[in-house]
Amino acid sequence: MRKRGILFVVTGPSGVGKGTVLTEVRKQKDVYFSISATTRQPRAGEQEGIHYFFLTRQQFEQKVAENGFLEHAEFSGNCYGTPAEPVDTRLEAGEDVLLEIEVQGAMQVHQARPEAVRIFLAPPSYEELEKRLTGRGTETEEAVRRRLETAKRELKLAPEFDYIVVNRTVEQAVSDVLAIMQAESCRAERALLDAR
Ligand code: 5GP
Repeated sequence: MRKRGILFVVTGPSGVGKGTVLTEVRKQKDVYFSISATTRQPRAGEQEGIHYFFLTRQQFEQKVAENGFLEHAEFSGNCYGTPAEPVDTRLEAGEDVLLEIEVQGAMQVHQARPEAVRIFLAPPSYEELEKRLTGRGTETEEAVRRRLETAKRELKLAPEFDYIVVNRTVEQAVSDVLAIMQAESCRAERALLDAR
């Protein structure tokens, strides 16, 4: 049994299907899913402490000042961050941890935790992403336009990640992510690190 858990980071542009794919992954794999903090307003049906911790900008900044986030980023006018303490506690206890975050934050994780395994979920094409984001109907036209602009920049960063999974179908993407997780758990370096 490994002593330390593995930190998995799944990122990708908004609308690519991170939520859908990871909901399935979590049904099939025992992993601690990190709950982020955000300054964004809750959407209909979103609950405090389940989907996000909803903070004011002042509360968020306070936590940044206390070094309370493993990473944090501004996205589409709102702040998002991963509370560090629950993640570290789980990893130390030997549990694997999964983060679902946007691309800037995922790049920061690489600096903070170089051992993290970072997976970029990509759409089959930019046009497909545009179709998915527009069809979601949860955002105003202006917000969708901003998310698409960001997505264009983010897609260029895909080669910086450890793995790229193309979300052609949910089943395929889920199976790819699970395969990566399985393979990573067998890496020789991890056994060597744990033996120290
Ligand atoms: P949404 O507003 O649609 O829930 O999320 C917007 C984006 O923020 C998504 O790409 C989501 O993955 C990302 N996100 C959620 N939590 C975090 C976090 O803790 N840190 C970062 N950097 N991004 C996050």
